[in-house]
Amino acid sequence: MTDTHLNADITILGAGMAGASMVHLLEPARQAGLTVALIDRQPLVWNDATDRPPSFDGRATALSWGTRQILEALDLWQHISPWACAIDHIQVSDEGRFGQTQLHASEQSTDALGYIIENHRLGHGLLNGLGEARGLLSLAPAEVTQVTMNADGAGLQLSDGRTLQTGLLVMADGGRSPLMSQLGIVQQRRPYGTQALVTQVRCDQPHEHWAFERFSEDGPIAFLPLHSHDYAVVWTLSDDEMADALAQDDATLIARLQERIGYRVGRITDIGERLTYPLALVKANEQVRRSLVLLGNAAHSLHPVAGQGFNLSLRDAAVLSEHLNRAVREGRQVGDLQVLMGYLEQQKTDQRNTILASDLLPRLFGSRAPGVAILRDAGLLGMSAAPVARRLFARHAMGLGHTAAKLG
Ligand SMILES: Cc1cc2nc3c(=O)[nH]c(=O)nc-3n(C[C@H](O)[C@H](O)[C@H](O)COP(=O)(O)OP(=O)(O)OC[C@H]3O[C@@H](n4cnc5c(N)ncnc54)[C@H](O)[C@@H]3O)c2cc1C
Repeated sequence: MTDTHLNADITILGAGMAGASMVHLLEPARQAGLTVALIDRQPLVWNDATDRPPSFDGRATALSWGTRQILEALDLWQHISPWACAIDHIQVSDEGRFGQTQLHASEQSTDALGYIIENHRLGHGLLNGLGEARGLLSLAPAEVTQVTMNADGAGLQLSDGRTLQTGLLVMADGGRSPLMSQLGIVQQRRPYGTQALVTQVRCDQPHEHWAFERFSEDGPIAFLPLHSHDYAVVWTLSDDEMADALAQDDATLIARLQERIGYRVGRITDIGERLTYPLALVKANEQVRRSLVLLGNAAHSLHPVAGQGFNLSLRDAAVLSEHLNRAVREGRQVGDLQVLMGYLEQQKTDQRNTILASDLLPRLFGSRAPGVAILRDAGLLGMSAAPVARRLFARHAMGLGHTAAKLG
């Protein structure tokens, strides 16, 4: 018979990239005897051909070098690396202007500047082995309909009638959380008035591990290397331009993309499925309360131009787990407000800097004002001439400009 009243020391709501990573990071707590529940309305195992969950759809994600280091420490990189394409070079340029800069892995003393991986491959890698994980209570598919904070932590109501009591609730339920509103937490949403068009293209030239980020008055466009001749494309467009782009046939859209990116990628020969995402900067007005912490898009959702959303969330998760695993070792409550405040205090500078950079880039490079364009040129040319600035920029993009969490 199924239990109708469940208990867990820590509950992670949401098995997207943030929640799935958190389960692995809490292995020391699980090994120490704590029960961790993972809840998602989507199943944790799926068939790529028929039913990919929205978090692990046809997008591709840029993983920073810092993210690789965390995934390696968790023994997950071995399941991800076969599908991840290394970025050895990045060219950043401004259409119709002089500014251009290039970054090379060889200058940074690392194997790669970062990696590109399709989301569904990343999903399989992150959820790998969770079925047998010790101390894990896996509840998926299961929908949480209500959260109530109480003296012992949080009480969750599931749509199938079950209830769950937990000492700490990690809300990793994404950027549009009605449950957060139930708790009176406000998500400040500033729409950019643009959408991301995501697709894949094939070119007649191999990419040789180059990524191209090109800024134009229409908005930034990124060509990110995937399989030998294929790129993942992320193009930011206004609502009107998006409607046009979606209505165009493949040949017309290929011609538009070719015009934007030029022939640095060779000739584009094929284009895949088109997906769209409305873009907004979303920040929760509070991230921790006693027995409650927000993680991933629930805490902050960023413009994808800098490819930092998951990378930042993973650094958050790593630092949060450091504080929780230490609390367990010291016999403290995982829902203790001081423990959770300690996490936020340690991560606030990284969050602030990453959110600022992700917000500034599209606004600076999307501006049509002439003064801003000259500043852009100066910035890109200056960077191309100054190895120190280039190195700092690269270190930030690679997720290395921060103090690493102590895992385990
Ligand atoms: C176009 C685009 C490109 C991007 N590119 C990059 C990139 O290159 N690099 C990068 O680092 N980041 C990138 N990002 C950001 C990255 O995709 C997000 O940071 C990441 O997906 C957030 O994951 P999450 O786990 O926080 O949320 P989600 O993926 O939204 O997961 C939330 C989960 O919670 C579950 N859930 C929600 N409510 C309930 C409920 N009531 N009951 C049960 N389950 C529930 C959902 O089913 C879902 O599985 C990009 C984003 C976009 C839109």
